[in-house]
Amino acid sequence: MEHEVTDERRCLHCGETKTTLRRAGITMCGIEGGYEYRELIEEWPDHRWRDWTDAELDRWGIRPEAFDKHRRTPETHMQWVGCEDTKRGHVLATEDDYEFGLRIGQCHACGKVPITTEEAAREQG
Ligand SMILES: [Zn+2]
Ligand SMILES: [Zn+2]
Repeated sequence: MEHEVTDERRCLHCGETKTTLRRAGITMCGIEGGYEYRELIEEWPDHRWRDWTDAELDRWGIRPEAFDKHRRTPETHMQWVGCEDTKRGHVLATEDDYEFGLRIGQCHACGKVPITTEEAAREQG
């Protein structure tokens, strides 16, 4: 019997490991979704096993300080990276926004309210 070499590195696109893909006989890089019907919701020309390079992380909008933290963050998670790790930072609402249910000072991207120590003290009573 052939000894199977497991490779647990995950593809940074579809999020599957080489081992999982080989066992399932899948070569295509994509993400399936859908409820009633299965459909392809994301597809890439190739799997991605290498870490992201500095240039690529920069293109994702990651701060240089957080590069090492996100070397292997899947592409599909890049849009959910914490504002603290992005060059953009928090996008604070400058006025109450009822449409999006945001208050002044609340972040459009993550919904957090980076509160000041003064406010924190007041909240704790
Ligand atoms: Zn893949
Ligand atoms: Zn934020």
